[in-house]
Amino acid sequence: MTFNELNIAEPILRAVCEKGYNEPTPIQEQAIPVVLRGKDIFGIAQTGTGKTAAFAIPILQHLLKKNEQNIAAEPASTNEPGRARRNRRGRSHGKKEYRAIRALILTPTRELALQINDCFTDYGKYTGLRHTAIFGGVKQHPQTEKLRQGVDILIATPGRLLDLIGQDEVRLESLTHFVLDEADRMLDMGFIADIRRLLPMLPAERQTLFFSATMPKDIVALSGSILHDPARVEV
Ligand code: AMP
Repeated sequence: MTFNELNIAEPILRAVCEKGYNEPTPIQEQAIPVVLRGKDIFGIAQTGTGKTAAFAIPILQHLLKKNEQNIAAEPASTNEPGRARRNRRGRSHGKKEYRAIRALILTPTRELALQINDCFTDYGKYTGLRHTAIFGGVKQHPQTEKLRQGVDILIATPGRLLDLIGQDEVRLESLTHFVLDEADRMLDMGFIADIRRLLPMLPAERQTLFFSATMPKDIVALSGSILHDPARVEV
């Protein structure tokens, strides 16, 4: 199997080729077609299997296609160019203007958040999609500056995410894709209460990808409350 056979859009395929990847890893081969079809996933995979690209590539592709559809649907000329642009990019809330976040990747540690962010930089470099990572233990200001410039894909650790939602710096009502990465580690690190607080803030109509290296009972229970008719992917 090659990446070509996975029907990946040209701007993403080009970036993947430039990374020097010849073939998808087993988790990518299984997950990418399912995620592209829009299904939820319950993925059992460790770090090192290539799982980041398994969710990053199809999410980039969904958002890219949506942008192309929106551009095609826009009138050729309009008397209100600012309005068309604002509608595509997000909403105006008082003085703050946002490009609405459409994909959220929740991950337990700063290191993982930065690694995932780097993957989106690599695979997304020809898509025009914007992404950033937010995590605790550092000043908020540079992160909020980045958020205010507009972000399509947000990679976050739970505490900082909830803080910035509380300050109205992050709004999730336009979210269409949600990834819960390393769910077992999230529970081990005591993030379950944060996750339960976050879940009601996510639109019910969304695609959810749930990844865990192990599958103890509490993970199965959590996945059951988050996923809708998931496909199980295991490597
Ligand atoms: P991950 O499990 O996502 O942390 O990825 C583990 C490592 O595998 C990372 O260094 C990736 O850059 C690399 N990788 C991901 N997909 C592929 C692929 N299809 N071929 C070769 N290396 C890959």
